[in-house]
Amino acid sequence: MSLKTDFICLVHYHEIGLKGRNRHSFEHRLRENIQRSLGPELKAQVSRISGRLLIVLESWPDALTAAGLVTRIPGVVRASCGFRCVQDLDEICRVAALVFGLSEPFVSFKVSARRANTNFAIDSMQLNRIIGGWLGERFPEKLVQMREPDLKLCVEMVEGAAFVYGHTLRGIGGLPVGSAGHVVSLMSAGLDSPVATWRIIRRGATVSALHFSGRPETASTSEHLVHQLCDLLNRIGGVHRLCIVAFGAYQRQLSGLVPSELRVIFYRRLMLAVGNRLAELYAAKALVTGESLGQVASQTLDNIAAVDGVAAFPVFRPLIGTDKQEIVNQSKALGSFEICSQSHEDCCTLFIPRNPETHAKLPKVEALWQTLPVDDWLEQIMAQLEVTEFGL
Ligand code: ATP
Ligand code: MG
Repeated sequence: MSLKTDFICLVHYHEIGLKGRNRHSFEHRLRENIQRSLGPELKAQVSRISGRLLIVLESWPDALTAAGLVTRIPGVVRASCGFRCVQDLDEICRVAALVFGLSEPFVSFKVSARRANTNFAIDSMQLNRIIGGWLGERFPEKLVQMREPDLKLCVEMVEGAAFVYGHTLRGIGGLPVGSAGHVVSLMSAGLDSPVATWRIIRRGATVSALHFSGRPETASTSEHLVHQLCDLLNRIGGVHRLCIVAFGAYQRQLSGLVPSELRVIFYRRLMLAVGNRLAELYAAKALVTGESLGQVASQTLDNIAAVDGVAAFPVFRPLIGTDKQEIVNQSKALGSFEICSQSHEDCCTLFIPRNPETHAKLPKVEALWQTLPVDDWLEQIMAQLEVTEFGL
């Protein structure tokens, strides 16, 4: 290359969360999250330029790898790979030809230029014409097409440099992990709660995951699966710790004290009560579950109300209006589907009748709850909590 040209990945983010004084901390967090996800192998420098984050890399394959990684990071809307060069028309045209070469096969193209300010003398329309004209002469077999061209060659004049790119990938959107506070997420090894946890992380929350295993009434398979799920989610970061409760003995006690049709509701209440304690311990401000309205008996409006009565924090249900097939699709995209499909015993099915209550009455549930030694159980559970810190 004649003049200094760098391989780059330009990261575009949403305007959401960028209002006023938040903007700086939002960008700072996104930058840190991106730098961490790129790891030490990619020699990448991340910096901020005019409403974007810029990653400078050592090669074109590295730029493609970086774009693939950052599009999984919450807060990233798009990532574009290309080049940074000096603001010189000959040089920009030469780099545009490089982008052409890397974009094959394609037939039609258009140039889309943008000036961040008027320091550069030539305006966007003229830039489009000049660069487009030069490319048209050099590559007569390519067609200029304004609507839906195969290749949109973008040229941005920003902070004294020109950014030229044609390759853009879509990101997952959302907000940077760590920008929205901490939550306790009740996570089984089922399909739903890992997707719910992912969704709340995508909105910027960090998570303490809470899992109830049927141990000693069941094997510990679900615990291993939830560990794998936390590792998977932590590819984008956000799960600070996993807390496991051996729940089988408490379920056994509950089953002796509560009519069989109400057991699931009482298991859930005790789960949320443990969630309350964890939220206090880890300064979380909400609890999260993977429930979806009407999906199973315990997820009717009445039963949700009967369970929620015990919550001392807002309970978020990111999947409440989501159909099973949508959850399955998202879990496949996320990679959790394979983990959750492995057979394991779920503690919720312990000591459960065929026909559980679907319309529990809150006053009746509350009255029975008062008779239980809940505080003693909570003390024991908290004393025996098994915590794995992920050191994020
Ligand atoms: P999932 O697929 O998340 O297990 P589900 O459709 O099986 O959900 P339920 O079994 O009724 O529904 O569970 C509802 C929610 O309660 C779960 O999404 C999860 O948030 C919480 N929950 C259920 N079982 C457990 C568990 N063993 N450990 C932690 N949380 C649980
Ligand atoms: Mg389940």
